[in-house]
Amino acid sequence: MKGPVVITCLYFIYLVTSHPTEKVTYNGNQLWKITNDNKTTLELLKTLANEKYLTLWMLTSKTVDAMIHHEYLNQVKEKLLENNQTYKVSIEDVQKAIDEVNPKPPENLDGHKDYRLTWNYYHNLADIYDYLHYLEATFPKLCTVITIGNSVEARPIKLLRISNRNPNNKAMFVEGGIHAREWISPASVTYIIHQLISNYDNEPSYIKNLDWYFVPVLNPDGYTYTYNVDRLWRKNTAKSMTSNCIGVDLNRNWGYDWSNNGSSNDPCSNLYSGRKPFSEPETASVAKFFINNPNIQWVGYLAVHSYGQYIVYPWGSPDRVIEDHKELNDLGSQAAKMIIEGGGESYTVGPIGTTVYAAFGSSTDWARGGEAIKFSFTIELGDYGKYGFLLPARFIKPSSDEVLILVRIIAQAVEKSLQNNNKC
Ligand SMILES: [Zn+2]
Repeated sequence: MKGPVVITCLYFIYLVTSHPTEKVTYNGNQLWKITNDNKTTLELLKTLANEKYLTLWMLTSKTVDAMIHHEYLNQVKEKLLENNQTYKVSIEDVQKAIDEVNPKPPENLDGHKDYRLTWNYYHNLADIYDYLHYLEATFPKLCTVITIGNSVEARPIKLLRISNRNPNNKAMFVEGGIHAREWISPASVTYIIHQLISNYDNEPSYIKNLDWYFVPVLNPDGYTYTYNVDRLWRKNTAKSMTSNCIGVDLNRNWGYDWSNNGSSNDPCSNLYSGRKPFSEPETASVAKFFINNPNIQWVGYLAVHSYGQYIVYPWGSPDRVIEDHKELNDLGSQAAKMIIEGGGESYTVGPIGTTVYAAFGSSTDWARGGEAIKFSFTIELGDYGKYGFLLPARFIKPSSDEVLILVRIIAQAVEKSLQNNNKC
C-alpha cells in the first residue's frame, strides 16, 4: 500500500518561467493550504497552475500548498468554493515573508573575527566558503578544502573534508544546497561541520573512524540567484538550447535510473532532468570526484533538503523495493524517534517513491544504485508548510540539531555494520 502521496521540494512543482534579469518580487501573493480530499481538486489545481493562477509548492494526500498569484486570489477562492474545497492562508504576503526570513546580520558578529557564520542568519556563498577556508587554516591536520569542479557560471564547488588521516577510515558524503531556495540545507550542513569540529577530540569512535566529505552548496549559481534575483528559484541556471527557460533540476540529473518519468523533459519545468544524465557540471563534479578517488571507501551518503519533514531512502521508483528495506526503515525510524525525544519535530520515514512520490535520477538513488553506498538517505527538513521554503532563520539551530541526530545514527550504523563484517 502506498504511503501518503506527497510532492515536496523533490517533486512536482511546475513553474513556467524564463530567465528574469531584474529582482523577482511576490508582493500580495499568498500561500494557501488547500484541503485535498477528492480527485477533482488536484486536477483543478494543476489546471490553475498551468494557467498561471498559482504555483504548487507541495502536495500531500490530504493537503496542497499553493502560492496564489495576487491577481487571482478571488478567482481561485471562487473555484475552490465551487468544488467544495476549504483552505486556510499560511502566508498572507509571500514577499513580506521573504523580507522577514533573514534579518540582516550585523557587520560585527560577536566573537567571530575570522569568519561570519553564526547560524542565527542565513549566509551568502562567500561567507560559507570563507568559513570552510577558515577551518582549513585553523585545523590543518583535520580539515581540507577541495574544489571538486565549477558550476555553469564558473563558481567553484567546494568540499570540506574532515579526517584524522587514519588510513582505515571509511567515508561519508553529506550533500547540501542542491535546490537553491532551500536555504536551511546549507545552513544545517555548515552547522554539522561546526559541531563536529568544535569538539572533535571528544567525539566518539563512530565519528572519528570516518572521513567526512561535506559539500554545503552543490548549486552555487542557484543559491546566489536566490539572493540576487528570485528567492524561490530551485534549479541551477543553465541555459537551454531549445527554450528561453533556464535551469536543470539537479536532483533529477544523476546517472542512475535517470528518466523523464517523475521528472520532466521540458526546460521550463521545475523538474527538468536535463539533456542526459550528468549533463550538468554540478552533478558531474561529484561523480568525477568519486571516479578520481577510487580508494575512498564510501559507506554513507546524506542529502539535505526541505520541506515536509521526511527521512527517506531508495528507491525513487514506487515500483521497486530495496533489499534491506527493513534495516533502513528501522534506522530512519530510530532517528525520527530520537529527534522527537530531543524535543524536535515529527518525521515520516520510508522509501522515497512510496513515502513521497516517484522521483528518478536523484542523488540518493545514484549513491545507492550507482555507487553501492548502503546507507544512503535524504532528509527533508521543516516545516509542514507554515513557512515552507521561507523558514525563518530562528529555525536554523533546531532544524540542524535534527539533521545531526540522523548523521550520528547513520555513523553508528556504519560502525556496527563494520564490526559485524569483521566478525565474519
Ligand atoms: Zn530539495
